Amino acid sequence: MALTNQIVIEKAKELGFDLVGFAKAEPLIDEANHLQQWLNLGYQATMDYMNRNLDKRKDVKSILPEAKSIISLAMNYYTDHKHSNQKDYGKVSKYAWGKDYHLIIWEKLELLEEQLKEIDNQFNSISYVDTGPVMDKAWAVKAGIGWLGKHTNVITREIGSWIFLATLITNQDFDYYETITDHCGSCRACIDACPTKAIVDEYVVDSNKCISFLTIENKGEIGSEFKNNFDNWLFGCDICQDVCPWNNKFSEISREKDFEPLNGTSFNLNEIIEMDELEFKRRYETSPIKRAKLSGLKRNANFLKHSES
Ligand code: SF4
Ligand code: SF4
Repeated sequence: MALTNQIVIEKAKELGFDLVGFAKAEPLIDEANHLQQWLNLGYQATMDYMNRNLDKRKDVKSILPEAKSIISLAMNYYTDHKHSNQKDYGKVSKYAWGKDYHLIIWEKLELLEEQLKEIDNQFNSISYVDTGPVMDKAWAVKAGIGWLGKHTNVITREIGSWIFLATLITNQDFDYYETITDHCGSCRACIDACPTKAIVDEYVVDSNKCISFLTIENKGEIGSEFKNNFDNWLFGCDICQDVCPWNNKFSEISREKDFEPLNGTSFNLNEIIEMDELEFKRRYETSPIKRAKLSGLKRNANFLKHSES
């Protein structure tokens, strides 16, 4: 039986995805040019992997030669817990409160691909969750999931921007969705609220200044120029999304229970500084926190202890 948009949407939603969009698999010329300009300015900081596989990022046919369509999937991860105001606690970004989203989404993607192949045995696909050489945000925009906000996260009209994205490249044709127009308008709330002025222009984030990069991907020290500007963020930063009116109006609690906090929403800095590898592994084995490694988390905790007033 031939696959239709409706079949894919039904199966994806049954598995727990919240939004599904469809785009023609054609080269991302403008998006690749913007990426190249961003790289030329050094805004990727030390994320050298961003410089690699530019051909694949530009054209998914370099990944799957028979690619005809992209199915873009979004999963809501919003839960309405608050951070601790207690002294010596550092804040953790919402996306890292629960179980690692890669583990959750990979499992769902695998099931979805299996089910679609059962319906149409000609169906072939390659899928990614954030880690591969695909421009998942650009595809989400092309596929009608949402628009790119000035903070460079994808915003949906239905549930705001607290979403994880997955991208499925497939050899099948679908009906393609219209791109959603930009609804940021004259708003600048995210730009004005960013404590380190990392949103250097509308739709441009300099990772060198972004707390998310500095506390997660960054392997070096955190510069003294950021002293007293971290707003007590220990792992990641949600400020630009917290202030976004689209989130304030439209965010909904996720259906996925695994996004509920595993270890709280804020961590005790002294406990982190004293923690050994065994305890780190016990607490964060299935959490996105693992990404920063214990050494990174300790660096962040020490930075907050010694720099925040
Ligand atoms: S995540 Fe935080 S530091 Fe990075 S751009 Fe947003 S508000 Fe600024
Ligand atoms: S805060 Fe305003 S400018 Fe920033 S992404 Fe949201 S709507 Fe757009």
